Amino acid sequence: MQSARRRAGDPPGRQPPSGLDAADLDRPIRDVLPELARGVAALARLGIATPRQALFHLPFRYDDFSDLRPLGELLPDEKQSARVRVVEVRVEKGFGRRPQRVIAQLADDTGTAEAIWFGRQFVEQRLARLAPGAELVFSGKVALRGWRPQFVGPDFSAVGSDSVHTGRVVPVYRLAGGVTQKRARDLLARVLERALPAVSDPLLPEERGSLPTLDEALAAAHFPEEAIDVAAALDRLAFDELLALQLSLAQARVAREGLHAARVVVDREELERLTASLPFVLTGDQRRAVDEIIADLASDRPMRRLLQGDVGSGKTAVAAVTLAGVVRAGWQGVLMAPTEILARQHHGGLAPLLATLGVRAEFLSGSLPAAARRRIHDAIAAGEIDVVIGTHAVISEAVTFRDLGLAVVDEQHRFGVAQRAALQAKGAGLEPHVLALTATPIPRTLALTFYGDLSISTIRELPPGRQPIRTEVRNRTALPRIEAFLASEAAAGRQGFVVVPLISESEALTVASAEAEVERLRAALPQLRVGLVHGQQRATDRDATMQAVAAGEIDLLVATSVIEVGIDVPNASVMLVEDAERFGLAQLHQLRGRVGRGTDRSFCILLSDSVDELARRRLEVIRSSSDGFAIAEADLELRGAGNLLGTRQSGLPPLRVASLFEPRHIALAERARDLANDLVAGDPQLARRPALLRLRDDFASPEDDGEVA
Ligand code: ADP
Ligand code: MG
Repeated sequence: MQSARRRAGDPPGRQPPSGLDAADLDRPIRDVLPELARGVAALARLGIATPRQALFHLPFRYDDFSDLRPLGELLPDEKQSARVRVVEVRVEKGFGRRPQRVIAQLADDTGTAEAIWFGRQFVEQRLARLAPGAELVFSGKVALRGWRPQFVGPDFSAVGSDSVHTGRVVPVYRLAGGVTQKRARDLLARVLERALPAVSDPLLPEERGSLPTLDEALAAAHFPEEAIDVAAALDRLAFDELLALQLSLAQARVAREGLHAARVVVDREELERLTASLPFVLTGDQRRAVDEIIADLASDRPMRRLLQGDVGSGKTAVAAVTLAGVVRAGWQGVLMAPTEILARQHHGGLAPLLATLGVRAEFLSGSLPAAARRRIHDAIAAGEIDVVIGTHAVISEAVTFRDLGLAVVDEQHRFGVAQRAALQAKGAGLEPHVLALTATPIPRTLALTFYGDLSISTIRELPPGRQPIRTEVRNRTALPRIEAFLASEAAAGRQGFVVVPLISESEALTVASAEAEVERLRAALPQLRVGLVHGQQRATDRDATMQAVAAGEIDLLVATSVIEVGIDVPNASVMLVEDAERFGLAQLHQLRGRVGRGTDRSFCILLSDSVDELARRRLEVIRSSSDGFAIAEADLELRGAGNLLGTRQSGLPPLRVASLFEPRHIALAERARDLANDLVAGDPQLARRPALLRLRDDFASPEDDGEVA
């Protein structure tokens, strides 16, 4: 792999100045790599300030241009490379609405082709290198124009030059702040070239086994020699990430062994009375979950329990009964949600339910006026409020509980580690019991592996009387009919959602496509009130729009996947997901769960023009099943291995490299768990392995996915 490392970023002819040392990896790039001063701002826009951050800014996809094709054998609609001779170059000035175009005629021994760039795709200074007679390697997407192949907006470089953009496996990075892919790639290659030699391996050879060393893995994860090197590189990085996770879990477990929680003893008869005063009868699964939780609460071992069940399966009802039981037993409860919208919604749903159970719940968030907040803080401290429902404001320093017995955390994987720690500090000497709710079902074995010693309660059975949601897969030719349908639903007083896909290359592009969709729908359906929410809006703007939706003032809400978690609009009857094949199955299932919450017949339309066999099968899973667990399992099966060069869907826990859906990674997780347990058993603070501490903290850093503030 020595060559892979050298290849990692060596534009030819540049002698590396004297090397960085390990400490330099965490210092500002500006200071340790002054020759990159002009790239510092662009790197900052990508969220990269230090060499280490650059090393771990991994591509999310690769384009394989390593295979040079004769022009006569280029295939349409694929990204390919070819070694060509430039025959002629024409620059057409733009005027009016027509952008400038640059057109080059290309040839090799097998045929001819054309390359075309529009407007700003072509940078003037490259024109000098695109001279007739030049021998170049072109890489890019090929279209057919008539019968001739045409490269659209390709990259090119001189034959024999060791380009990071052409004629090889090329990394594709997530972009932000207007930085181009080419610029990102150039800068990362240059940082890597200098930083990789300073990377030392936190693992001993026997711990690493057959996995590559860290520097080899990083080199190949960014600039693989061959496509086949990527898998091993990502396995190594996945292992490190999983080890970081398992080290945190193992240390938390050791730390908890000495800790005690309150024994919250809920009286059986009291519990029966509470259950009986609910406006419905609990399902069998709900009852079982309540029993499991109540049993845990009575122990002085702090509960760590995950309650998983599909959207609408009645998790909130379970939380309500247990919170009420806790209050009756003389303790306080708290429910924390990741966003203001969700917290308000929980309060809206829970407070009346709790009120019927004789429990006083109060809403708390940072958006309340300071005076109101203080009043609530005082009431919590005095024990006058039984249950607090809110955002992470409920664990701010100013909040002191008189006696906190149970903390319920909604969609826990959206909370950072620090917030979880703050929550745990609220127990006044005792650890609170923690119940996490999640609507993203995970097969049990996976949950155990990835979440360590969490106990799990599962609700599979839906409350009776649910209207099934009709799900259909359609292609774009059906759009006019779909729009007519949206209009007729709106005319009947119902509401709809239109979800546009995240464009993985860039959030800005995602927002642009959402905005374009709003314009298109407003033009096509002028009688509808169309709204927009996306992750780049200010939280207050987004909340205002969501409130308008809840109030029925918006007929059709266009959204990026921000609406995936949680919002509850009983009046919504249509969910239209565009480019549905780009979403994970769990995500599609979540999105579908946004409708069918009222009494109206509801519809989920998955729009997809993909002809990819696997994509069709995945959508068929959603169409034919409404069981989140069955869907999660099918997803696991369909993805299988070998997905590494495709777009990587992120796993359910906040993992960056490792994936729950990658069978190899599940095996790695088990290996990491064993190693972590051994390491922590012999050295609980990891005092002898500072590099592992650093690894743990690297991967444990804030994990919000950026979509939800
Ligand atoms: P989740 O939190 O899992 O999404 P909720 O607890 O919010 O689900 O329940 C969804 C809806 O179903 C709510 O309107 C709730 O009142 C209702 N519900 C919950 N449990 C039952 C039940 N056992 N029987 C009938 N309706 C129920
Ligand atoms: Mg709920």
